[in-house]
Amino acid sequence: MSKALERASVIGANCLQIFSTSPRRWLLPKIAPPEAETFIKRKRELGIDPVYFHSTYLINLAQVGLVGERSVESLVAELKLADTIGIRGSIVHLGSLKNNNAEGDDYSAHGALISHLKAILGQTPESTLLMIENAGTRKIGKRIEEIAWIIKAVNNRRLRVCLDTCHLHAAGYDITSEKKLEGFLSLFDSLIGLPKLELIHTNDSKDSFGSLRDRHENIGKGKIGLTTFKLLLNHKKLRALPFIIETPGFDDKGPDKKNLDILRTLID
Ligand SMILES: [Zn+2]
Repeated sequence: MSKALERASVIGANCLQIFSTSPRRWLLPKIAPPEAETFIKRKRELGIDPVYFHSTYLINLAQVGLVGERSVESLVAELKLADTIGIRGSIVHLGSLKNNNAEGDDYSAHGALISHLKAILGQTPESTLLMIENAGTRKIGKRIEEIAWIIKAVNNRRLRVCLDTCHLHAAGYDITSEKKLEGFLSLFDSLIGLPKLELIHTNDSKDSFGSLRDRHENIGKGKIGLTTFKLLLNHKKLRALPFIIETPGFDDKGPDKKNLDILRTLID
């Protein structure tokens, strides 16, 4: 984990998102005490703050049975670890339901999801946060109304939101002009409340608007365009938030300096 801090620093980042364990296996995160100490020390020295966990891709909090139980267990372990090493919290994709009525307002199938979220928050340190990431495909959290409903049902100040620009684009939320961005932010504010917006995943998209496909692209190389990123980075209600890239990288090696440098040129 300390290596991730070093790498973030090398590419000029000042905040970070990492996996606590293999993102495609059910393993509970573990960190040996010396490594925890090094992490805390290097985080402070390099000035990387905040740091978030991105939870495993296997998580599906909407399912009853083993998958749901493992999802809770995994997030509880992650948030407990976060508390011990100064990580702010976990960003999570909530999962999906077989018959998810993503277009409607019927959330009657979300009972397990709500009780799992309550269970996680009830068993973890008060200092940690849990961020719902908006979805770009037919999964839970595609619509802002749905996220708002979940947040209201769980009713815990530690439950926040992470907005991914690529997923907004895939889900058909147009924020490509000042007016459209204002419209979206006032929708978010009225349904969820802007103070609950914790961070932004800043990704361009390989796919077209409203496609319900969410393949990330490097900044400026996709269908979202630099104008939108410029609007986001400079918006007075957003500019103090952490912006995190999950771009493929210009060398296909993941988030890189070039993506960050392009974003920096857009800041007024
Ligand atoms: Zn994301």
